[in-house]
Amino acid sequence: MSHPGSRAHLVAEHYNQRPEVGVVRRQDSRIIRLRSFNNWLKSVLIHRHARPNDCVLDLGCGKGGDLNKWAKAKIRHLIAADIAAVSLDQMKDRYQALRDRRFSAEFHALDCYGEELAPLIETHFAVDVVSMQFCMHYAFESERKARIMLENVTCRLRHGGHFIGTIPDANMLVKRLRAQPDDVFAFGNEFYWIDFTNAGLQPDKTGFESPYGTNYMFHLEDAVDCPEPLVHWETFERLAGDYGLRLLYKENFHRFYRRALQEPEYEQLLQRMRVVGGHAPDMSSEEWDVAGIYLAFAFVKDQ
Ligand code: SAM
Repeated sequence: MSHPGSRAHLVAEHYNQRPEVGVVRRQDSRIIRLRSFNNWLKSVLIHRHARPNDCVLDLGCGKGGDLNKWAKAKIRHLIAADIAAVSLDQMKDRYQALRDRRFSAEFHALDCYGEELAPLIETHFAVDVVSMQFCMHYAFESERKARIMLENVTCRLRHGGHFIGTIPDANMLVKRLRAQPDDVFAFGNEFYWIDFTNAGLQPDKTGFESPYGTNYMFHLEDAVDCPEPLVHWETFERLAGDYGLRLLYKENFHRFYRRALQEPEYEQLLQRMRVVGGHAPDMSSEEWDVAGIYLAFAFVKDQ
């Protein structure tokens, strides 16, 4: 478990304290369209990489917002882990209540960036897909944590298996920061703000002191309010290579959306999930701006 006072502990507390509001209250959220868009994007990612009968490892699974997506993908077994024990309990309840529960599951309350997962896993299945949605960036506090995270990602992943995820797009964050006047170190809109004061940024904004532990403050309406480390992409890709992972693609959400829409089944899914009106997402330009903060990635574990 994480130590009281550590940053990992603060992150766990933050997520544990977020109330489980249920489907009805979620519809009232000011960022409901953004949530629907993110859910559509994760559905596409999961549909592209998970196959029937797969064994899946969901690290940083939260309250189990992706359980239905795994059910639809017809997986055989789910290994779920998160540092926030309260969130994990809510996920267990959701799992028990699933209408289409045709897969088995095991749950582990664990600091996935500080402790080894392998000895805890009950199953002997090889893992086909590892998923880390909106959570991997917290490992980039230090190289040690990033390496423990990658060890956990790859410890049971079979050769040819996939590692998929979504994280803030550091290049986009830095681009938006540099578009501000020289003495302004924060930006945002009515839904989010990001503040790089105290992030170890050079005064002329040309670089950072280290590829790890560059913490900006992130506020997203109704969702997140805590410090987050920037993921220096080249560092991440190089480190992933040390664990046998080869990049298939990485795409900012805006580009991911445009490319996925070229496939009719994903456009239909977008309609079914009520994300679109016409050919653009049914979001304000401010919400669309928030979507552009993120990127999606997929790696394969080489033979
Ligand atoms: N993946 C879920 C989703 O897409 O709905 C939850 C995403 S939530 C924004 C981030 C999650 O990362 C939280 O549940 C948090 O507890 C988890 N997390 C952060 N640091 C972690 C760590 N060191 N080990 C395991 N989980 C962690």
